[in-house]
Amino acid sequence: MNFAFEPNPSPVPANERAARLVDPVFGRVHTDHMAILRYSQEKGWHDGKITARTTLTVDPATAVLHYAQEIFEGLKAYRMEDGTTALFRPLANAQRFRNSAQRMAMPELPDDLFLGSIEALVRADRDWIPTGPDGSLYLRPFMIASEAFLGVKPSADYLYMVLASSVGSYWKGGVKPVSLWVSHDYSRAAPGGTGAAKCGGNYATSLVAQAEAIRRGCDQVVFLDAAERRWIEELGGMNIFFVFDDGSVVTPPLTGTILPGITRDSIITLMRDQGLTVREELYGIDQWRADAESGRLVESFACGTAAVITPIGKVSGPDYAFQIGSGGMGQTTQRFLEQLGAIQRGRTADPHNWLHRV
Ligand code: PMP
Repeated sequence: MNFAFEPNPSPVPANERAARLVDPVFGRVHTDHMAILRYSQEKGWHDGKITARTTLTVDPATAVLHYAQEIFEGLKAYRMEDGTTALFRPLANAQRFRNSAQRMAMPELPDDLFLGSIEALVRADRDWIPTGPDGSLYLRPFMIASEAFLGVKPSADYLYMVLASSVGSYWKGGVKPVSLWVSHDYSRAAPGGTGAAKCGGNYATSLVAQAEAIRRGCDQVVFLDAAERRWIEELGGMNIFFVFDDGSVVTPPLTGTILPGITRDSIITLMRDQGLTVREELYGIDQWRADAESGRLVESFACGTAAVITPIGKVSGPDYAFQIGSGGMGQTTQRFLEQLGAIQRGRTADPHNWLHRV
């Protein structure tokens, strides 16, 4: 299926667009177009198009507004050194989107439609990629239950859309170490729950914990497992890595309660390529503190599409606080931040064919 192109009749003028692309705030600068595709039980996927970005009109009984049957993705298009545009591992997002759909009793979007919608939108809005060194186009595919019906059941109809947003550096003033608040009261996901799916509900439940982190003077929340309240899982929107003084690395395993991050997978792959030992194993909060204090643990960092790699400087809980290494950017963190950034922007070889040119 092709996505019909209906150009925006009144796009943002070039000079105004250029002004908006200077140091854009994450998630606030929207492009001229969006992708839209409908699903119904009778017709399957149909009516795909790229059209002017506009508001939606929905019936107040629309299922997503009541029962949160919703999933989304996040990936970036980068301007390459040679002037072309490329997506980073979009098929991994397509696959995760299908897995999320399955968990939320939604129809799976075929990979060619996922990819086709994103390629068509990037072609329409390529000029919205900021030219600065940290600039990229953040793409937000999502699917909502669109049937107007007040009973609790999987919706018969769905709306799939893609938005594009111009972004610069995620952290204002460049990368600097973040402080984490360990949430001992709130958990993000339980065994058998939706932790491995990228559904809006996971983020709704994380907000109160994130708000507590801010109130406690920290930047981000880190969640523990729901059963034992002991094992470190992930941040509200990033996976986590631990680096030890013998050069080995640990990251929590994909047990079904954490999101299988594509940045996480890319970092594990790069590290193993370079001979580093990476163990996907449970790591407890008490151990983290003991290892940080003894000096066995030298670095910790968080990773995800939006911020790529972020060093962790300090960790606090209800009755403890400890520093990671010197509290600054660690060597391994810096090394993989640079390597991943270089691959994503086409500045170096791409041995795993992660870039998908548009
Ligand atoms: N965990 C959560 C909860 C997230 O929302 C994200 C962002 N998608 C990640 C981890 C990192 O995933 P990725 O590297 O695919 O962006």
